[in-house]
Amino acid sequence: FFFFFFFFFPTFLPSQFSRTLPLTGIPLAATVAFSLSDLSRCSHSLTLDLAAMATSAFGTTTATSNYRNGGAANARNLPKNSSVKSKTGVRKSAPGSLGGGGAASSSSKDDAGVPGRVRVAVRLRPRNAEEMVADADFADCVELQPELKRLKLRKNNWDSDTYEFDEVLTEFASQKRVYEVVAKPVVESVLDGYNGTVMAYGQTGTGKTYTVGQLGDEDMAARGIMVRAMEDILAGVSLESDSISVSYMQLYMETIQDLLDPTNDNISIVEDHKTGDVSLPGATQVEIRDHHSFLEILKLGEDHRFAANTKLNTESSRSHAILMVNLRRSVKGKDSAVSSENSSSLQTVKSLKPSVVRKAKLVVVDLAGSERIHKSGSEGHTLEEAKSINLSLSALGKCINALAENSPHIPVRDSKLTRLLRDSFGGTARTSLVITVGPSPRHRGETASTIMFGQRAMKVENMLKLKEEFDYKSLSRRLDIQLDKLIAEHERQQKIFEDEIERLTAEAERQLSDAERNYVQALEGSSPLVLYWPCYVFCFQKERSKYQKEYLESIKKLEEKWTMNQRKSVNDENKLRHKDVGSNVLPNAKESKVAPIEENPEMKKLLEKETAHRKAVEEEVWTLKTQLAESRRSEALQSSEIVKLRKMLDDEAHQKEKLEMEIGKLQSHLLQLSVEADETRRQLDSGGSEEVLSGLDSLLHQSRQPQSDNSETGDKESVAKLFEQVGLHKILSLLEAEDADVRIHAVKVVANLAAEEANQEKIVEAGGLTSLLKLLISSEDETIHRVAAGAIANLAMSETNQELIMAQGGVRLLSNTASSAEDPQTLRMVAGAIANLCGNDKLQMKLRGEGGIKALLGMVRCRHPDVLSQVARGIANFAKCESRASAQGVKAGRSLLIEDGALPWIVQNANNEAASVRRHIELALCHLAQHEANARDMINGGAVWEMVRISRDCPREDIRSLAHRTLTSSHSFQAEMRRLG
Ligand code: ADP
Ligand code: MG
Repeated sequence: FFFFFFFFFPTFLPSQFSRTLPLTGIPLAATVAFSLSDLSRCSHSLTLDLAAMATSAFGTTTATSNYRNGGAANARNLPKNSSVKSKTGVRKSAPGSLGGGGAASSSSKDDAGVPGRVRVAVRLRPRNAEEMVADADFADCVELQPELKRLKLRKNNWDSDTYEFDEVLTEFASQKRVYEVVAKPVVESVLDGYNGTVMAYGQTGTGKTYTVGQLGDEDMAARGIMVRAMEDILAGVSLESDSISVSYMQLYMETIQDLLDPTNDNISIVEDHKTGDVSLPGATQVEIRDHHSFLEILKLGEDHRFAANTKLNTESSRSHAILMVNLRRSVKGKDSAVSSENSSSLQTVKSLKPSVVRKAKLVVVDLAGSERIHKSGSEGHTLEEAKSINLSLSALGKCINALAENSPHIPVRDSKLTRLLRDSFGGTARTSLVITVGPSPRHRGETASTIMFGQRAMKVENMLKLKEEFDYKSLSRRLDIQLDKLIAEHERQQKIFEDEIERLTAEAERQLSDAERNYVQALEGSSPLVLYWPCYVFCFQKERSKYQKEYLESIKKLEEKWTMNQRKSVNDENKLRHKDVGSNVLPNAKESKVAPIEENPEMKKLLEKETAHRKAVEEEVWTLKTQLAESRRSEALQSSEIVKLRKMLDDEAHQKEKLEMEIGKLQSHLLQLSVEADETRRQLDSGGSEEVLSGLDSLLHQSRQPQSDNSETGDKESVAKLFEQVGLHKILSLLEAEDADVRIHAVKVVANLAAEEANQEKIVEAGGLTSLLKLLISSEDETIHRVAAGAIANLAMSETNQELIMAQGGVRLLSNTASSAEDPQTLRMVAGAIANLCGNDKLQMKLRGEGGIKALLGMVRCRHPDVLSQVARGIANFAKCESRASAQGVKAGRSLLIEDGALPWIVQNANNEAASVRRHIELALCHLAQHEANARDMINGGAVWEMVRISRDCPREDIRSLAHRTLTSSHSFQAEMRRLG
C-alpha cells in the first residue's frame, strides 16, 4: 500500500532559513514524481546510451554537491552556499588521518602526493522474483537519472530526495561497464605503482558479491571486479621482471582467517610506522603466473569460506571478504639520460645505480551486509557477534564521518577493518567505492542509510603516492656475482703465472747445470789445456750470467703478460656490461697480448681508467653504507617521534573525558533552564507570546534535523531526552493555548515531529493524536485544520495508530473537515489521512460505516490533481483490501466502493491525464474486476472498456498483464466482450 506520506511545514522556519528557502509547502514539481517513476523504466533504456557516452567520467568529475529537492525539510542539505566543491578546495591529510602519517619517508620523488578523492558509484539491483510479486503494486523507492549522475530516493508519492554520485549504474548496467567505471581506473593506478582499493558496501542481497566476487563460470559476461581486475593486471605486467602475489582472507568477529589455509585462523596485522604500510605477513601468499591459477585460488577461497562459516554457524553476509593483490614491478630505463663519452668507468658507476621497484597493492573488499550496523542484538545474533560485526562496520562509518568532517582525530585503531583500510580512506591509495541498493520500498530505510554512507565517503580526500623504491637487494646480488667472478679469474691467472715461473726456473737450472757439466767434461777430456783453466772459468762465468739474464728477462715478460691478462679480463667484463664500449677495447686487447704496456699507451690509459673505476666502485659502496647508517638513525628518530605523538594522543583523550563531564554538567543546567522557561511561558500565556513563538521556532528547527546524520546522534539523543522530560508535553499543552498564533505554531511543531517516524510513537503516547483530532473540531482556523490533518496523515501510517484514529472517531472528524474545507492543500491532507486508513484490512467496514468513502468521493469536487491523486490512492487501497478479503472468503457480495457510488467517478477518471491518479485507478479497477459479484455493475458502468484499454495500453507491464489476466479469467467479461463483438 501507498503509505509513504510525509508532510513538512516549512513556512514558519526561523528567518535565516526562510531567506535561503523561498519554497512553500510541498514543491509543485513533486506532483509529477509518480508519473516520472512510471516512466523510469523506459527512460532508463533511453538514457543508457547517454550514460555510456559519458565515458568514464567517474575518474574526473569533481562535483560532489549534496543536492536534494526535498523541500525545506532538508534545509541543511540544500546547496545553501555553493554545492559544488572546487578543484582547489583539496583537503590535506589531517595528521591523524587513516594512514596519513607514515608515507613521508617514501622514496618517491613526488613526496607531497597527488590529491585523489574517494570515488563513489551507486548500483541498483534489478527487482528479483520475490519483489516482482510482493512489490507488484508499488513503485520502486529509487529512481536513477544516470545522465545527470543522480539518484532520487522517494519519500512518498510525490516527494523525493536527490543525491549526486560520481557514477550512477542502473539495473541494466553490465558487469563490464561496472568494472570499467568503478575498478579499472584503480587497477590502472596500481599498475602505475599506487596502492588501490575497491570496496562494495550495501545491505545483504543488494549485489555486493555479484559486483565484486562473481566468477563468471557459467556466463563469461557476468565476471565480477576481482576476476576482471586480475585479467587487466596480467595483461599489464611482464612476468619476467614483475611478480604478482595474492592473499585472500575473511574478517569475522574481529578475527582474520586465511581463506587459502583454513588452519591459519588468527592472522595479525602488522603496521610499518615508517611507511604507513599495513601488511599481513601471516597470510598465505600465492604467486600468480596466469589467469587460470587465480581463478583456482578464488574458488578455493570460496570453498574454505563456506566450510569455515558452516563450522562457525554463520553466513557469509556477516563477514568481510578481503582480496589483497601485491604487485612488484621493476622500472627500466629510468636513468638512461646519462651523458656518455664512451667512458667506461662512468658507465660502470652508472650501472651500479640500483634499479627502481614499484610495490603497489590492490585491495578488493566485499563488506558484510550494512544492515548489521543497526541490528545489534536482534534475533539470531549472539551478543558477541553483534558487537563484533558492528564494531568493524560501524568503526568504518565513524572513520569516514571523521574524515569527511576533517576531524583531527580519526578512530582508525577501533577495529581491524579500519586498521586494514587505513591507506584506503584518507591515506595514499586510490579508492573507489560501489554502494549497492535494491529497489524495494520495503527497505527504504536501509537504502537511505547506504546512500548517506556513500555521500559521506565522497567527501574523503586521499593523497596518492607512488610506492617506489631503489632495488638495493638486486644491486647487491649483482655485485656479489661480479666479485666472485673476478676473484676466480684472478686466482686462475695467478696459478698460470706461478706455474710458468716454476717452469722457467726449472728450465734455467737445467741449462745451467748442462753448461756446468759441459765445461767439466771439456776440462776432463783435454788435460793439456789445464794450463788454460782460468780462461775456461772466465768463459763459463760469462755463459752463466748470459743465462741468468735471459731468465730474468723472461720472468719480467711474464709479469707484464700477467698484468695484461688481468687487465683484459676486467675489460671483458666491462665489454659485457657496455657493449658499445667493448668494440673500442677489443682490438687493443688483442694486441696487448704481445706488446708490453709501455709500448701501448692506449693500454696504459685503459689501465688507469680501470683503477679509477675501481676507486669509484669503492666510493659507491662506502656511500651506500653511509646511507644505510643514516636511514637507521632516522628510523630511530621517527620511533621517538611516535612515542611523543602517542603521548599527545593520551593527553587529548584525557581532555575529551574532561569535556564530556563538562557537557554532562551543561545538560543538567539546560534542564534547569527549561523548567524555568516553562515557568516564564505560563506567565507569558496571559500576556505577550513573542518569546514562546521563538522558543517553538528553535524547537522546530531542532525537530527538522534529519535523523540519519550519525555524527550528531549524541546531540540528537540529548534533544530527544529533553523532549521526553519536559518538551513534548509542554508543546502538546500549547495546542490548547488561548493565543491563536501559539496554537498554530504548536501544531506545526507537532506536525513536523510527526513527520519523523522515530517521534511518532512518543507523540501518540503523550496524547498528541487525541489533541490533534480535537483540534479538527475545536478550531475554526483553516491553517490549523490543514496542518493537523497532515500530522494525522503521517501518524496514520502505522496500523496501531490507524486503529486509534478509528477508535477516537477520527473518520467522522476528518469527514467534517473535508466537507467544510476550501483549500486544496487541506483537502489533500485529509484525503491522504483517509487514504492511509483505507489500506487497513481490519477497518474496512467501520471506515465505510462512518462515511469514509463518501468523504473521499465528496472531495473530488475540488479538481486539484493533488487531491484527486490522494482520493484515487484511497480507493486503490480500499479495493485491494476488499479483493484480498474476498479471496480469503472473509467477504462476499458487491464491493462497498460500488455500494457507496464510487464506480462512475472511477470510470470517468480511469484515463485521467495525471499519471498519479490514473495509475491508482487502474489498479483499483483491476482489483474490483477480480470478483464476479462486481461484474454486472462494472459492465453496466462502462468499466469493461477501461479494462480493455488498460490491458492493451498501460505503460506499466505488471498492471497491463494483471488487467489482461483478470479480463480473460472472468466469464461475465468474456461474455460481454463476445456480445459486443
Ligand atoms: P550481497 O552480496 O549484497 O548480499 P548478492 O551479490 O549475493 O548480494 O546478490 C543477491 C542476489 O541478487 C544474487 O542472487 C545475485 O545473483 C542477484 N543480483 C545481484 N545484483 C544483480 C544484478 N545487478 N543483476 C542481476 N542479478 C543480481
Ligand atoms: Mg555477499
